[in-house]
Amino acid sequence: QFHLLRLQSEEMRRMASLDILTGVYNRRYLVERANQILADERNHPAWVVVLDLDHFKTVNDQHGHATGDRVLQAIGALFRGAFRERDVIARSGGEEFVLLLGRRSGDELLAELERLRQRIEQLSPEGLPITASIGAASHLGHAVAGFEGIFESADRAMYRAKELGRNRVVLAGTWTRRSHTAA
Ligand code: GH3
Ligand code: MG
Ligand code: MG
Repeated sequence: QFHLLRLQSEEMRRMASLDILTGVYNRRYLVERANQILADERNHPAWVVVLDLDHFKTVNDQHGHATGDRVLQAIGALFRGAFRERDVIARSGGEEFVLLLGRRSGDELLAELERLRQRIEQLSPEGLPITASIGAASHLGHAVAGFEGIFESADRAMYRAKELGRNRVVLAGTWTRRSHTAA
């Protein structure tokens, strides 16, 4: 009976950390785990990735909210199969996902995110041409390695990906240099 109670409370805790629609983690769990993961990975590059679906309002407007929900579910299912056990994949709200990825070099991360971008592009959930803009930042580039600061950098990189035409990956700290030489 005691075991049953413990199993039930573990199951309740697990459920409370998940996003109901997509089955990935929710924002609450993400924030709870973020600083812990970034601290554990102090000697390796760890990454915060912000991924926002492109023109998602159009999907809802043209095909209805229920279709939009099924698209989000398909994206969630793709993510759940695409990462390592220790990685944290969360839906932070709306059509935005945040990933916490440890132990990867910048080159590894870029290659992996580029593959992910292509897989989303090729998925065509509900027969629709869905793409995503992806921004990433590492805690190594930050003097104060708190989650909020790294998240802001990743978020800015994601917005830069939108500005550059969407459906692309931008690494924080690389695009400012490039835009300087272009200017
Ligand atoms: P952008 O490429 O700039 O990101 O354009 P966007 O249309 O994706 O961005 P915007 O923020 O204007 O719209 C996001 C839309 O996502 C608005 C809302 O209708 C939709 N959305 C947010 N949460 C959900 C959800 O849980 N289910 C569905 N179906 N739609 C959602
Ligand atoms: Mg969007
Ligand atoms: Mg958004």
